[in-house]
Amino acid sequence: MAKYMCMDTLRFLLFNVHNIQELFAYERFADYDQSAVDIMLDAAKAWADQDFYPYYKEMDEKPAYYVDGKVHSHPILKKIFASAGENGWIGHYFDYEDGGAQMPYSVANAANHIIESANNNIPGYLGLTSGAAHLITTFGTDGLKKMFVPKMLSGQWCGTMALTEPQAGSSLSDIVTSATPKSGGIYSIKGQKIFISGGDHEGVGNFVHLTLARIEGAPEGTKGISLFVVPKFRPEEDGNLKYNDVCAVADFQKLGQRGYSTVHLVYGEKMTVWDIW
Ligand SMILES: Cc1cc2nc3c(=O)[nH]c(=O)nc-3n(C[C@H](O)[C@H](O)[C@H](O)COP(=O)(O)OP(=O)(O)OC[C@H]3O[C@@H](n4cnc5c(N)ncnc54)[C@H](O)[C@@H]3O)c2cc1C
Repeated sequence: MAKYMCMDTLRFLLFNVHNIQELFAYERFADYDQSAVDIMLDAAKAWADQDFYPYYKEMDEKPAYYVDGKVHSHPILKKIFASAGENGWIGHYFDYEDGGAQMPYSVANAANHIIESANNNIPGYLGLTSGAAHLITTFGTDGLKKMFVPKMLSGQWCGTMALTEPQAGSSLSDIVTSATPKSGGIYSIKGQKIFISGGDHEGVGNFVHLTLARIEGAPEGTKGISLFVVPKFRPEEDGNLKYNDVCAVADFQKLGQRGYSTVHLVYGEKMTVWDIW
């Protein structure tokens, strides 16, 4: 068994320092008790031992890279997304009605700590998908929830947060990506985003970029910024996916987390992509 972390210490922190068992008295967590949490932590550790830790060195030595319109990533990502979706690891803390398991957030974080310790090239892909889906369940319309969240929680589509632009990092009020209204609540997005974690890779067939942009005529500064759901491939009414004119044009090479792609995205330039994996 891999020794990258001590489960006894983690359990001591959860049950003896933070007393998370007090949470089980709440109606939201009525399906949880200490033995259920123990089983989940053991499952996270077994998953980390099998699919995370053995690939850490390899992913560091052979980082994600961009060539000919594609971001190439380690093959284990496909298996990770499939098993994360199948075993409910992406939406574990979501409400039951949104497809989650209402796991206490502290337990979800403990599970995340285990996989992060095993290989921190990987959990970010799942965490961003979870975070993006949670933003949609919290603020999105029923239509958006139905269209995107199940595919994200099942590990078929990856979520991202696309904020940073070449001229706007810390100073997000300087973003210039534009959103032009079309009919039916749809907007046409044009601009560039850089350093987008998990912005493209070979682990999934589609990407849901939660993108900051400015609707034409909106006030300057942060007050004029809106958030858009911009999938790489847009679901059509007939169920088919259509390329949505947002694609990766580069992957930034880094000193750490090298297996975790960090992508330059271009929106609305009528650039083509190769295929759906
Ligand atoms: C590995 C990695 C992953 C990332 N993933 C994402 C992602 O998924 N999505 C996304 O949108 N972005 C992502 N980013 C971008 C990240 O959010 C930006 O790098 C960050 O916001 C800083 O912006 P910047 O790099 O342009 O630096 P700058 O804003 O240019 O800052 C450079 C330096 O100037 C300092 N500075 C800036 N403003 C001030 C000020 N007003 N006063 C004093 N000092 C100041 C900063 O502290 C810093 O030291 C990622 C970046 C990295 C490195």
